[in-house]
Amino acid sequence: MDCIFCQIVAGEIPADILYQDDEVVAFRDINPLAPTHLLIIPRKHIPSLVDLSEVDSPLVGDMVNAANQLAKREGVTESGYRLVLDCGKQGGQLVPHLHMHLLGGRQLSDALG
Ligand code: 5GP
Ligand code: ZN
Repeated sequence: MDCIFCQIVAGEIPADILYQDDEVVAFRDINPLAPTHLLIIPRKHIPSLVDLSEVDSPLVGDMVNAANQLAKREGVTESGYRLVLDCGKQGGQLVPHLHMHLLGGRQLSDALG
């Protein structure tokens, strides 16, 4: 499996892992776009949102719950933060393993695109 995020889950390549449970793993983005920029991913290799089956869809809730806990730890709950799920080429998705970005710690742009 040459998926970089699966390799992070397996501990085969290093990452600054901040949270993990049976379903999800969270770590700092290697190229942070904000003072807090974390990635929350399912352990299971799901390439993108379009590949998410109904059975796996609760994973997205698990990812949001982990993100909310991490936002507290990062101290951005009061100031605010953004959760982003890129899907596919025009959605800006580069890594083909489902992931949620948590961005915070500065005023984010109003522009979403
Ligand atoms: P995407 O553009 O697919 O929505 O986001 C992929 C994110 O993964 C990017 O923000 C990129 O900086 C991050 N990323 C890519 N490779 C690695 C890596 O090996 N380690 C970590 N921690 N982040 C990575
Ligand atoms: Zn993967």
